[in-house]
Amino acid sequence: MSNRRQRVAIYGTGLFLLGLSIVTLITLLPKLEKVKAVQSHTNQIATGNSWLAASFPVENFQAYTSGFGYRRSATGGNNWEFHSGLDIAAPQGSYIRNWWAGTVIQVGDRNACGTHIVIKSGEWQHTYCHMEGQVETASGHRYFIDRAGGVQIWEGQQIPAGVRIGRVGMTGRTTGPHLHWGLKYSDNYVNPAMVLQAMFSQQQLARSSAPRLTPQQSTVTIDNSKSIQDSGY
Ligand SMILES: [Zn+2]
Repeated sequence: MSNRRQRVAIYGTGLFLLGLSIVTLITLLPKLEKVKAVQSHTNQIATGNSWLAASFPVENFQAYTSGFGYRRSATGGNNWEFHSGLDIAAPQGSYIRNWWAGTVIQVGDRNACGTHIVIKSGEWQHTYCHMEGQVETASGHRYFIDRAGGVQIWEGQQIPAGVRIGRVGMTGRTTGPHLHWGLKYSDNYVNPAMVLQAMFSQQQLARSSAPRLTPQQSTVTIDNSKSIQDSGY
């Protein structure tokens, strides 16, 4: 592991916090109106102890290497780009797990996101980028396959929460092995870190057998982000 990689890991938390503060700034911009809170729009995710069934999306977690929000372009220069997800570093080949039960609505391998799958769970969409493997077609149906990892996922397939759906790779635009994890709610980007925080706090409370969180406490606010270009992975 190079020095650079270690620095990235150490600064991961800092970047993560930077991402959070940038998102806070975004929510203050006058044009972006707050549209909806999760609790009023989904029967699964926001009420009571509903986050308990959600799975952390990767095994062998190492660090958060890039947070959600605006950042300097990875291609250099003074350009800024919108980073549409959370980068989670893990050793190449580590298994990726489905965050929430849903249906595979897309598999692909031809863009900056690399080999990826998109899963829809109610109003939520979760995207997993830079995976090992590729997309193939049989009898007109598309599927993602990672032969070495023993994973095959078809478009249209139902996937339970916590199931292995692929492995961390370096396909698409990336300089090191990591999972780019993107979340949308009703077509609006959501900061995955907020969702992980809600999950963790609820799962911790459950383990300590403390009283359940109220729906109010587990609310994740969704901001209108439809105008933001899908640029950064
Ligand atoms: Zn990313």
